[in-house]
Amino acid sequence: MNSGRFKVTYWSLYDCANRDKLYEELIKAKDLLEQQSQELVEMATVDSLTGLLNRRELNNRAHNMLSQAMRTASSVAIMIVDIDFFKNINDSYGHAFGDEVLQHLSRVLLHKRREHDIVARFGGEEFVLVLSDIEEKDAFKVAEILRSDIENTMINNTKITVSIGVSMNKNNNDFDALFKEADLALYRAKGGGRNQTILY
Ligand code: GH3
Ligand code: MG
Ligand code: MG
Repeated sequence: MNSGRFKVTYWSLYDCANRDKLYEELIKAKDLLEQQSQELVEMATVDSLTGLLNRRELNNRAHNMLSQAMRTASSVAIMIVDIDFFKNINDSYGHAFGDEVLQHLSRVLLHKRREHDIVARFGGEEFVLVLSDIEEKDAFKVAEILRSDIENTMINNTKITVSIGVSMNKNNNDFDALFKEADLALYRAKGGGRNQTILY
């Protein structure tokens, strides 16, 4: 955000030659404030590298989705997608290429998203998807399609793979607890050789 722009909005009644000019300046100031407020909302909710929702917004939206699911007794899936050996990718090809990989993966994750699904960058090379109204076997299928799409796409002649942990809101609707379950499943996917999906 350009802090220099804040200076434009100062005026005094004595400086204004007429009412029209004052009115014009008020409209400009209002537009600028609206634009700045929009920028602040974006900074607070969106990850700047990938354009996906950030961790904070993920928490807000996932809590809302799970509360809604509890009222309607519907099924929600939580997926954690973690790039395999990402440190090696950075070490071999450089951090800038690592960033490109993160941006590429974000586009793949967004591509298959349904309207109400949540796609977020949780941090580093970890992404979280929250899918509404989906049964366990379909959630597994979706995760496997994503995993194989990623495996079969070359980024600058380089192949990447991901491991995915999935949990379902069967026994509770608490996002933190479901996240822990998905994380445990992810841990098993890593231990099982990576490039695979595991259901909690
Ligand atoms: P594993 O298969 O077990 O997940 O191994 P890994 O190498 O993917 O996992 P590890 O946690 O060891 O390394 C994650 C790496 O992600 C280390 C860190 O430098 C890198 N990283 C985190 N955030 C960014 C980022 O914004 N850009 C880039 N280029 N690298 C990042
Ligand atoms: Mg990783
Ligand atoms: Mg990780």
